[in-house]
Amino acid sequence: MTERVLVLGGGSGGTIVANSLGSAFETTVVSPSPDHLFQPGLLYVAFKGERSRLVREERRLLKRRVHFLQDSAARVDLREKGVETAGGQRLAYDQLVVATGIGTDPSQIPGLAQVGEEVGNYHSSLEHARQLWQTLSGFSGGTIALGQATPICKCPPRPSKASCSSTSCSERATSGTRAVSCSSPATRGRTRRSR
Ligand SMILES: Cc1cc2nc3c(=O)[nH]c(=O)nc-3n(C[C@H](O)[C@H](O)[C@H](O)COP(=O)(O)OP(=O)(O)OC[C@H]3O[C@@H](n4cnc5c(N)ncnc54)[C@H](O)[C@@H]3O)c2cc1C
Repeated sequence: MTERVLVLGGGSGGTIVANSLGSAFETTVVSPSPDHLFQPGLLYVAFKGERSRLVREERRLLKRRVHFLQDSAARVDLREKGVETAGGQRLAYDQLVVATGIGTDPSQIPGLAQVGEEVGNYHSSLEHARQLWQTLSGFSGGTIALGQATPICKCPPRPSKASCSSTSCSERATSGTRAVSCSSPATRGRTRRSR
């Protein structure tokens, strides 16, 4: 019997899982947006002003045998093996893959949400990454401070990648102090030294 696999989330994880399942499975991806954002590229938008195509149509990234439903999961019933969607559908499954990603919660650090609104960021959306590029383009001097709140983060090397990228913005500054400060709760890097 064909197993019904329901994948919640059409990001990198959900898309890779869905495409890697063979025809022995009837696979459906449920995601709220018809678009897929290639998140690592946000660094190049925020720090280099690149305009490369980071958004693709999710349907076109999925293999033909994979179904796509534009909707979002509102409730999972593990006992009955069903998912209710925000759009009012009830989807039955045999296997469930939860790949809904993670988000930041700026309310945990007083003032952080306001900073994000004013300067933009390089991890949540294309619009925010473009906003950060605008901010950095107008940087005329001072200190660029980058902070990582917890050791767990979406992409472990991301803070150090951002500090290297912002160094070039700081070098372009026309006046004042030029410095990039990066704080991290990680006690050591993940790079392994070769012998
Ligand atoms: C700036 C930056 C640089 C990075 N660099 C690298 C790198 O060099 N190498 C690397 O390996 N990784 C890198 N990463 C990390 C990588 O991009 C993420 O780990 C990856 O995108 C996470 O994929 P995901 O599928 O788990 O989540 P996401 O890509 O966030 O996808 C989650 C999906 O679930 C959907 N969703 C949310 N709620 C629901 C719901 N209720 N129902 C249905 N769907 C829902 C969302 O709309 C979204 O489509 C980087 C990330 C950033 C931000």
